[in-house]
Amino acid sequence: MKYKYEVTKRPEGKFLSGRNANECFDKKICPFCRKGLTVFKKDLVCLEEGCLAIFSPPIEKKLINFISTFENYKNEKSGRKANTVRLNLPDWKKEKLAEATHIKIRKGYTKEFFIRKITDKTYWEGIYIISWDSGEK
Ligand SMILES: [Zn+2]
Repeated sequence: MKYKYEVTKRPEGKFLSGRNANECFDKKICPFCRKGLTVFKKDLVCLEEGCLAIFSPPIEKKLINFISTFENYKNEKSGRKANTVRLNLPDWKKEKLAEATHIKIRKGYTKEFFIRKITDKTYWEGIYIISWDSGEK
């Protein structure tokens, strides 16, 4: 189920469910407490005491894919090593990197992967260092 807004701040223990949430967003009603939502910049904000939920439009993720060794993957996924170093990227990959907002790291040639938000792209003497937020997905 794809929601028209993502929960930026949720009241404790509450979660969105089903199509219902999207209907609420259309009607500017808080899906948690059913009170009216206030539009603030691009967000929808619930000003109801005890709720104070904030909803934001989903960010479009532009992914760049990399494959890691099993050993690196473990540390990269856990956040102990929240970066990857790459040499000699082909031109098409450099272009992808320039636009990428998120990185997808695959565990070798398996189907296992994780996605993280890129926080920094550093180019240094022919080496690309791509860092990401280990908490934010
Ligand atoms: Zn609310």
